[in-house]
Amino acid sequence: MKRILITGGAGFIGSHLCERLLEEGNEVLCVDNFFTGNKNNILPFLDNKRFELIRHDITFPLYVEVDEIYNLACPASPIHYQFDPVQTTKTSVHGAINMLGLAKRTKAKILQASTSEVYGDPEIHPQTESYWGRVNPIGIRACYDEGKRCAETLFFDYWRQHKVKIRVVRIFNTYGPNMHPNDGRVVSNFIVQALKGEDITIYGDGSQTRSFQYIDDLIEGMIKMMNNTEEFIGPVNLGNPNEFTIKELAEKIIEMTGSKSKIVFKPLPEDDPKQRQPDITLAKEKLNWEPKINLEDGLKKTIEYFKKLLNQ
Ligand code: NAD
Ligand code: UDP
Ligand code: UDP
Repeated sequence: MKRILITGGAGFIGSHLCERLLEEGNEVLCVDNFFTGNKNNILPFLDNKRFELIRHDITFPLYVEVDEIYNLACPASPIHYQFDPVQTTKTSVHGAINMLGLAKRTKAKILQASTSEVYGDPEIHPQTESYWGRVNPIGIRACYDEGKRCAETLFFDYWRQHKVKIRVVRIFNTYGPNMHPNDGRVVSNFIVQALKGEDITIYGDGSQTRSFQYIDDLIEGMIKMMNNTEEFIGPVNLGNPNEFTIKELAEKIIEMTGSKSKIVFKPLPEDDPKQRQPDITLAKEKLNWEPKINLEDGLKKTIEYFKKLLNQ
């Protein structure tokens, strides 16, 4: 049995990770300040003796004894990370320093949830880990993108300088149950709009592309990365290479929900990347990992989740 700390454990991805690591028999310590996290996400674990919850902001030091750390704390959707951009950068940077300091003291292995946003609005397609990215350092997405880039720098410097055992994964767009219904990300927005019969809001002309992975595939990849014994530290892309336009996504969700919602077009936000698709050759080779759940099956489960949530 391992003692595992999950920062951001009450969020979308964190709550799935708590569930899976508890199922595997570990002790899970969930740390969250509930900025975007939700108590309902972790409610099912509260009576598990191996689960513990601490309300804490990782920009402040934390002294606990653990064997592994998954560092996920950080708002992930543009409306939330742009709400208090200074706090977003602090969470990524001060948060990384504190969690790396904790890992250094306890000799814990630590995995950083980095992001495809480190590639910015990319000039190469699909994106490989060796690509350095194209990020506007003073734009409205920079608090998130540059914060995550600096966190990667800190991880690699703690590894080089202090021999901290690190792992870095770059997560591409992920969706599934436990996403916040109002968090503004495209899959949750479109499903909620379709189920309520409201207009489906496409930003721009909908020709921008994304590649969406279902949450269960991501969790499998993150755990494989943490546990790999080859000392492969990354960074490694975790995403589903199945790429489509935002307009295609809207049409698919309308069809699958049988909704009467109409599509409306709204202005494209500043610095919105035009295309994004992971190259997952490295994850296949090093982790023997690739996503298994196709869009239709993943959307079906996510639509079921939001249907229940909206009927409560
Ligand atoms: P989320 O917003 O649902 O979860 C983030 C969690 O972190 C929330 O529970 C929030 O309350 C908590 N948090 C935020 N600031 C904190 C702080 N200072 N101290 C303690 N807790 C704090 O988002 P998510 O989609 O679950 O994302 C989790 C991680 O994965 C993030 O680091 C995000 O950058 C990364 N990621 C997610 C995606 C995606 O598609 N969902 C893609 C790339 C990277
Ligand atoms: N830290 C923490 N928990 C620990 C150990 C360290 O939160 O168990 C924080 C501590 O506040 C420090 C940061 O992590 O500011 C970085 O730690 P490190 O040992 O690298 O640096 P130093 O203590 O020398 O500043
Ligand atoms: N988007 C959209 N309508 C929405 C929400 C998002 O058209 O209601 C677009 C957004 O402009 C972006 C894409 O969908 O081009 C993915 O947005 P999301 O915020 O989910 O993720 P990210 O931009 O961080 O990849």
